[in-house]
Amino acid sequence: MLAPPGGGKGLHSGRLSQATGVAHVSSGEHLRAEIGRGTSLGRRVASCMARGDLVLDDLMFEILTPVVVAAARDTGGFILDGFPRTVPQALRTAALGVELGLVGDAAVYLTAPSQVLIDRMLARGRREGRADDTPEVIGHRIEVFAQVTEPLVDYYASRQILVTVDADRPPEEVQADIRAQLAARGVPATRAASGPRRFRPASG
Ligand code: AMP
Repeated sequence: MLAPPGGGKGLHSGRLSQATGVAHVSSGEHLRAEIGRGTSLGRRVASCMARGDLVLDDLMFEILTPVVVAAARDTGGFILDGFPRTVPQALRTAALGVELGLVGDAAVYLTAPSQVLIDRMLARGRREGRADDTPEVIGHRIEVFAQVTEPLVDYYASRQILVTVDADRPPEEVQADIRAQLAARGVPATRAASGPRRFRPASG
């Protein structure tokens, strides 16, 4: 699930996970949990996240690789939310997928006008008190997205797995569009359509 900050990655990944039974892996949630638990890893990423900068790739893979491996084992795959976020991360994730015998079915790109994103994040900041949902940091996160994450749109388009969804609509409509576009590509978007687990451990 690929989106600018405030695009609704978490919401729609969660709903798709419920519909398919495939695990939802949110990089941001895992990082916030590390910070919440006060682990040394959490202390290393806290200031970087609060500034709206990206956490170093090696740290991201240290945190997420075991989660992704367990998700594949337990649910046959994963819906990645907020990860990969750069082209180098995407290449490394694809390599991890090869090791697990999995390929990316689709990259869902949620779009919305900047002002809609900003208003959503400011509202979330008031509601949840996220350290990075402040006006200054929001602006920086949008810049970071444009510089290092948006190139992934072309990357996935060239791999012919890009699904673009207008996310400036009520959540039910957005989710229905995601599922319809996935189904049109033959990607299972409900539990019934998922059928038997497709995960097969890499041999050797
Ligand atoms: P999110 O919850 O997806 O908005 O992520 C919140 C913050 O966590 C980002 O602004 C980054 O600081 C950090 N983060 C989340 N995912 C990644 C990632 N894949 N690579 C680097 N940093 C990340």
